Amino acid sequence: MEHKLFIYNSLTRKKEQFIPLNPPHVGLYVCGPTVYSEPHLGHVRMAVTYDVLFRYLMFLGYKVRFVRNITDVGHLENELEGEGEDRISKKARLEQMEPMEVVQKYKNLFHKVLETLNTLPPSIEPQASGHIIEQQQMISRIIEKGYAYEVNGSVYFDIDAYNRQYHYGKLSGRKIEDMLSNTRDTDGQTDKRNPLDFALWKKASPEHIMQWPSAWSEGFPGWHLECSAMSIKYLGKTFDIHGGGMDLLFPHHECEIAQSVAANGQEHVKYWMHNNMITIDGQKMARSLNNFITLRELFSGTHEKLTRAYSPMNIRFFILQAHYRSTLDFSNEALQAAEKGLQRLLKAMENLEKLEPGRTSTFDINIFINNCYDALNDDLNTPIAIAQLFEGVKYVNLIQEGSETLADKDLMKFKSFMQHVCGDILGLQQENQDEHDDLDEKLIQLIIELRLIARDKKDYASSDLIRDKLSEIGILLKDGKEGTTWEKE
Ligand code: ZN
Repeated sequence: MEHKLFIYNSLTRKKEQFIPLNPPHVGLYVCGPTVYSEPHLGHVRMAVTYDVLFRYLMFLGYKVRFVRNITDVGHLENELEGEGEDRISKKARLEQMEPMEVVQKYKNLFHKVLETLNTLPPSIEPQASGHIIEQQQMISRIIEKGYAYEVNGSVYFDIDAYNRQYHYGKLSGRKIEDMLSNTRDTDGQTDKRNPLDFALWKKASPEHIMQWPSAWSEGFPGWHLECSAMSIKYLGKTFDIHGGGMDLLFPHHECEIAQSVAANGQEHVKYWMHNNMITIDGQKMARSLNNFITLRELFSGTHEKLTRAYSPMNIRFFILQAHYRSTLDFSNEALQAAEKGLQRLLKAMENLEKLEPGRTSTFDINIFINNCYDALNDDLNTPIAIAQLFEGVKYVNLIQEGSETLADKDLMKFKSFMQHVCGDILGLQQENQDEHDDLDEKLIQLIIELRLIARDKKDYASSDLIRDKLSEIGILLKDGKEGTTWEKE
């Protein structure tokens, strides 16, 4: 069937049909993490959102080059003003590590978490520090074209010069006057011609650890520059889709457009996509607000908002239950509800395999299949697609009961469709339970033994405490003639 995928383009503020520049090729760039701390839910929402896009584009037959960067230099503490200490350098100083040691440590963690969440690795994962030359070349081009200037070893992007030709603010819809009135007065302690000008290159102070030689000074690139330089290097001067979190829309993506357009004189990206934030108790989840939850805490259940641990697939399903442009409100109850839903879905997927064909088809599966595709084609509406999958779950149960039947061909179509959507596109699969189950079994046997020891010593308080605490987390002990057995509630 013919698919028309529509995606919401932040640049035009409407849903547009996706038409690639050079079919069947699609260039996709996504802003990855700054690797100086443990992965949290916000990182994971970004990764899962664009993983589904990547998977769906491939499913539609496109050859996708998916580039997701790693920021390891230039992301300063005060991101709006482009000032303060480099986040990675600061972490390195606090933990007495090499900056690249910090980068490696958190990059590894990020990869590990994403793998457990069943996200596919990107085609290229460039690091900012590995592309200093490309960034310097880009600065030179922007200076040559008259859209940047050097002062005291630093290079700034010239917003006024750019605006005589182009439009700074077209992505965010912000007006220059409003942006200016929101800019903090730095008491004239600035080399900038216009307070909105942002750094392309910064001269490093002697204590700044990460610095490189350049035509202007020993210094480091501005944070926004890496994404312009690396996306152009790997995807070309104009490419199809650029994604990232909504918090990056301004100033990061606005500056990225300005840099790329200034250097090349042509449109940078055709479709801009932004995933929304995660909220907790109605407030944005952010490191700066100190209310974020790391994946380690989720997997181990060690955060005060959690009553227990949640599995990676559970978290993936929870994320996909909200549309990527809506906020996703986090709570322990929502995770529990997601877990129930996921188990029901995966159980049905297991039963699906065992369904036998009937003599005739008693219902039309095409309507169901089309509804599901419609949801995905409508700006990747995963909550509706999941609701449609549950329609499929109903059919699985009805066929199993014998109240509906599908003839051989229809049944095959139904099976492969369910598997495509659930597994290939949404990336939902049975978790590798074996090793966990094995460990669970050993741990619970150990606890049962400890309880027996307590009882032998007539320490009934401890023995009851163990039984009650296990029951609280859903594990029921049964004392019988053959000893104690256990089961999950
Ligand atoms: Zn970026």
